[in-house]
Amino acid sequence: MFAELDAALVAREQAGLLRVRKTVTHISGARVEVDGVAQLGFASNDYLGLAGDLRLREAAQAATPDFGLGSGASHLVSGHSALHATLEQQLSDWLGQPCLLFTTGYMASVGAIPALVGRGDAIFGDKLNHASLHDGCVLSGAAFKRYRHQDLAHLAQLLETTPARRRLIVVDGVFSMDGDIAPLPALLALAEQFDALLYVDDAHAVGILGQGKGTAAHWGLQSPRLIQLLTFGKAAGGLGAAIVAEPVIIQTLLQTARTYIYTTALPPLLAAALSCSVAIMQSSEGAAKRAVLQQHIAQLQAGVSGLPWRLLPSQTPIQPLWVGTGAAAIALSESLWARGVWVPAIRPPTVPVGQARLRISLSAAHTAADIACLLDALHASAKVLQ
Ligand SMILES: *Cc1c(COP(=O)(O)O)cnc(C)c1O
Repeated sequence: MFAELDAALVAREQAGLLRVRKTVTHISGARVEVDGVAQLGFASNDYLGLAGDLRLREAAQAATPDFGLGSGASHLVSGHSALHATLEQQLSDWLGQPCLLFTTGYMASVGAIPALVGRGDAIFGDKLNHASLHDGCVLSGAAFKRYRHQDLAHLAQLLETTPARRRLIVVDGVFSMDGDIAPLPALLALAEQFDALLYVDDAHAVGILGQGKGTAAHWGLQSPRLIQLLTFGKAAGGLGAAIVAEPVIIQTLLQTARTYIYTTALPPLLAAALSCSVAIMQSSEGAAKRAVLQQHIAQLQAGVSGLPWRLLPSQTPIQPLWVGTGAAAIALSESLWARGVWVPAIRPPTVPVGQARLRISLSAAHTAADIACLLDALHASAKVLQ
């Protein structure tokens, strides 16, 4: 077995697909130090620049005298603190439906989807859905059909031909490697037509779209058929997740979702920091941060003209620069790195073969000068790489 595993790793390395980690030694907003080398970061999902916010750090610190570090148990045993309860209430008040906290977004989907559908039921998922959704769908034991990315005619065809009684459509609200937004009005119309529920993973939409409320709010939608997953590791600047849905769904998840029941609750200090983060996302300050992001997006989109690579169409802070081969993506990423700009290359299997890209991630922590610096580095790289 060791020899087999070793051969697989060698094959991976020869294909240029061996992944290595960079070790971050210091972070200050978009400025990161990696193994002692200063870089301007376009790699993190800290879209609102809240991960380093002093108010969040202080909220976390203020929680420790009463609650310590860890929650000590799962929510249903003794891990559900007043700070968790406050955060849930705050989210419910904001989003208008009950909610349930999970420890990570990955765990939320892997637990919630199998809690809602199983053998004899059917799930319909976009092919570019996040891996956590995919895994939750497979784990559920329901018939799992994938439709071509954003191809609703294909989805309708699959829905028409299913005999299953319970049907669940599963999508990313904002697709994590493309930055495009799911067409929820059309998806909801299909859900109504075929009596399905619609599970929307808003990991990249919370704090960003719909006054920060997510993709459904962006489209002005409300429906008992909607189940929304929020995650707090991205724009919220922390870690954790919540599912927002009809009371009967929330109660079902609390009673039966295995990743809710059999895991330790989020540290209370994180719940305290997230309450602070959610308050900022709801406030005029949150709106101002979103406006800054829109300016950065416009500046980047205007500045890439003349480059040999194009940006995929995206109105979100995820701005993928299409490069093509994995090797070309690595070469560009390395050229930017040498110029003090960190933009990760995204290669297969994360994206389909031939669709390697640089995933430029913008943040309200960036300044206009930072975006200009990225553009300069891209233009300089184009001269040497072409
Ligand atoms: C990051 C991400 C997740 C996982 O969330 P975690 O809280 O980091 O586990 C789920 N879905 C999408 C689309 C993501 O990008």
